[in-house]
Amino acid sequence: MKFYSTRNKNNVASGAQAVCRGISEEGGLYVPSEFPVVSKEKTESFCGAAYEDTAAEIVGMFLPELTELAEYTRAAYSRFCGDPAPVVQIAENTFITELWHGPTHAFKDIALTLLPHLLSGSKKILGNDKITLIPVATSGDTGKAALEGFGGVEGTAVAVFYPSGGVSDLQKLQMITTEHKNVFVSAINGNFDDAQTAVKKAFANERLIKELADEGIELSSANSINFGRLAPQITYYFTSYADLLDGGRIKYGDKVDFCVPSGNFGDILAGYYALKMGLPVGRLICASNVNNVLCDFINTGVYDRRREFHKTTSPSMDILISSNLERLIFDLSGENDELTAERMSKLGSEGVYSLTEEETEKMQKTFSAGYAEEDEVAETISEYFDEYGYIMDPHTAVAVTVADKLCGGERERPTVILSTASPHKFAASVLEAIGEKPTGNEVKDLVTLENATALEVPETLISLPKKEKLFNGCVNRDEVAGAIKEFAQRMARK
Ligand SMILES: *Cc1c(COP(=O)(O)O)cnc(C)c1O
Repeated sequence: MKFYSTRNKNNVASGAQAVCRGISEEGGLYVPSEFPVVSKEKTESFCGAAYEDTAAEIVGMFLPELTELAEYTRAAYSRFCGDPAPVVQIAENTFITELWHGPTHAFKDIALTLLPHLLSGSKKILGNDKITLIPVATSGDTGKAALEGFGGVEGTAVAVFYPSGGVSDLQKLQMITTEHKNVFVSAINGNFDDAQTAVKKAFANERLIKELADEGIELSSANSINFGRLAPQITYYFTSYADLLDGGRIKYGDKVDFCVPSGNFGDILAGYYALKMGLPVGRLICASNVNNVLCDFINTGVYDRRREFHKTTSPSMDILISSNLERLIFDLSGENDELTAERMSKLGSEGVYSLTEEETEKMQKTFSAGYAEEDEVAETISEYFDEYGYIMDPHTAVAVTVADKLCGGERERPTVILSTASPHKFAASVLEAIGEKPTGNEVKDLVTLENATALEVPETLISLPKKEKLFNGCVNRDEVAGAIKEFAQRMARK
């Protein structure tokens, strides 16, 4: 399987190279040159199979050179509490796939527990014995998931930057109490886009890269642009479908809609890739919060980031530049690398680009989009708790709201909503939504939530306040490269 860059198809990489590089040298994203087809029989064989085995099969179709994949998926998914992607039926045609039973209680764990293994396996193949340093910009969940995924993994180091005011207290506590020796955490003045832009700049900083190379250190990416992050996310589309098959809810070939709370567009893009692999997906519904740039894009074909940035109760979706969208527009353009590069450069310089009418129609054949206002999110949490006894976090509630709005009350087709965070991670918002009073102390809120909903609080969250805060720094945007360098030198000296 070959990969090439969305901005230069002559830049070809093997799977192992794509995983190690993360982003291509001219700033493009690696995409597979072809999509393996998963047959009816193969999809049916996923019914009742262990998640780790399905993951090894799906990821292995893209990265066949990783011969120890089955061991990697076992190591990654044994860290989950039970099934990594259980499907819960809520109503006749409404299903929720819970992706938050991993070590940090958010869906990023699905990819970030596996990526370090994909990376170290790829490095072995390439004979690479450098230390791979992973700078991560996080809007909250990715940071801790990367720290847990890479923490303690030989030959790797991870530096996490989170927006100073853009993550919850609990998310911050989770990150700054991480104990592994090969990790660094810092706040950054600004919002998530500032953090992401600053980290992207570090990747393009030739002087920094040269200085790190002299220390035997290379940069790579764990953000959702890395194909090694994307591939593991394709798995749960197949397992969700197989679960519905197994439960007799559908027969093979019946289409299933997926509704995805979207930010960087990685989660839903994995669904598009599953569709390209032959999974009978009906519509892919892209759900946004009031930062509805993706929703507008899907409905109009114009991507326009020149708008106000809102802080919401679903911070992991507070994003105005969705990196993974580049892979979709590359695909829609008929894999036109020049056009993709041009559009991305326009997005950088003018903040806006447009698809052609043809491309827009093609996109709308598969994608629908909607967004949820903040009060609708709270209403949905409360309504589903009252009506179905199901408690969900605000990100999931954005998706449920949008799925309900778009179907106008009647669901013709089975719809699977992807649930991306445990309600505990956003306890205050959830409590408020169900008419309980948050205390201003997130850990106390966990207990209140447990008492109100009978949803057990994980020990890893309740014990956080007792842990030592190890990282208290905050940097400006232009200080990110310096912070990375300082950390790298410490890692090199060890
Ligand atoms: C990352 C994240 C999302 C958005 O997923 P993308 O792949 O960035 O679109 C949604 N919800 C939660 C809780 C997340 O952590």
